[in-house]
Amino acid sequence: MSFFDYRDGVLCAESVPLPTIADAVGTPVHVYSAGALRQAADAFTSALRDLPSARFAFAVKANPNGAVLRLLAQRGYGADIVSGGELRRALDAGIAPANVVFSGVGKTDRELIDALEAGIGQFNLELEEEGRVLAQFARRRGSRAPAVLRVNPDIDGGTHAKITTGRRTSKFGVDIAGAPDMYDRLAQLDGLDLQGLALHIGSQISNLEPLEAAYRRIGELVLELRARGHTITRVDLGGGLGIPYRPEDVMPSLTDYAAMVARVTRDWNVCLTFEPGRIITGLAGVLLTRVIWVKPGVTHPFVIVDAAMNDLARPALYDAYHRFAAVRPDGRTMVANIAGPVCETGDMFGIDRAIDHVDRGELAVFHATGAYGAAMASSYNSRPLSPQVMVDGDTFELVADRTLPHDTSTRRQNEPRTTGPAFNGAMPQAA
Ligand code: PLP
Repeated sequence: MSFFDYRDGVLCAESVPLPTIADAVGTPVHVYSAGALRQAADAFTSALRDLPSARFAFAVKANPNGAVLRLLAQRGYGADIVSGGELRRALDAGIAPANVVFSGVGKTDRELIDALEAGIGQFNLELEEEGRVLAQFARRRGSRAPAVLRVNPDIDGGTHAKITTGRRTSKFGVDIAGAPDMYDRLAQLDGLDLQGLALHIGSQISNLEPLEAAYRRIGELVLELRARGHTITRVDLGGGLGIPYRPEDVMPSLTDYAAMVARVTRDWNVCLTFEPGRIITGLAGVLLTRVIWVKPGVTHPFVIVDAAMNDLARPALYDAYHRFAAVRPDGRTMVANIAGPVCETGDMFGIDRAIDHVDRGELAVFHATGAYGAAMASSYNSRPLSPQVMVDGDTFELVADRTLPHDTSTRRQNEPRTTGPAFNGAMPQAA
């Protein structure tokens, strides 16, 4: 079932026509479907429900919106965080500290202390020194920090180079060859309650083979650590499963993934943690935008929309593809370059793309923007952060305002706000 579909020729989020949202809050705007979020969240947990012991920590970096986190918390998700800001958001959303996992290659002292004080459930150590420092902080508080060691299995996830994390040359995890000795040393620290291992080899992974290979390496390490006398009770398998961005993309099914996990981990006898991000929220969001101009180009026209790389960075960052579709398609198509208004040549969403025909003033969407969309937004070119809206059935709610960060400190009293009234869609056409 698609939660973004056409009704009477108009693209809707669940039962809400997207023009209604554009009229209410203006464009660009990130629109999420609560139904799609629930469906994806439940599909993931129910696929893995037969595992003896599993915990689910949503990767907050994919979508830190409070309404999204609250919905996921209600469905049994904890949080995988990478910063103090994400910790605050997770706790504010009602996620129990015990269900928070702290990943991240550069946790500051402040972040480590705050997470200890909050009583989070698991620190994923990225280097030996981090373990030593964390142990000291915990000892001073008279506690022991629950931790696992993140290992780099030296497996290429077969995804874009910039979202590959499992090769030994990357900054993430500790080299698997030195992991057993490091584990021996860390396990002796009073302030650490070292319970096992973690890995994460990358994002938007479209093939189960590298995941399986990585999990097998971790399985061998579990055996080796047990042979050295360690009690291993936890393994964190990270996230990484991809989603279909293009109509022709085929991704591994959750059933196949769950079967692979069950097969590989059968004898591990540990509690498994999963840190899914993209697969939970990616398909549950669209970025709604309005065409500002259709500008003639040398080869193809430029469809210049009011969303830009500051609203959706993935295309500029890693040439990512997001399907573009008219909100009221008329059956005609065109070949065009799709561009944002930001003053960067790279502010392009697509080049030489066959798309729905659009004219100035029309609404369109970029699909599959619910993960690493608003999460990566910036205010570059002094563009406000776009609002976010959550649709549930036939109702919708503003779950993040249109804001221009840092603006308030310089704005003088009585100066007009940068966020104007919602644009009503009446766009003058050139004579
Ligand atoms: N866990 C860690 C440690 C990550 O770095 C990431 C993202 O790269 C994730 C989980 C979530 O990955 P994904 O959104 O691909 O599921």
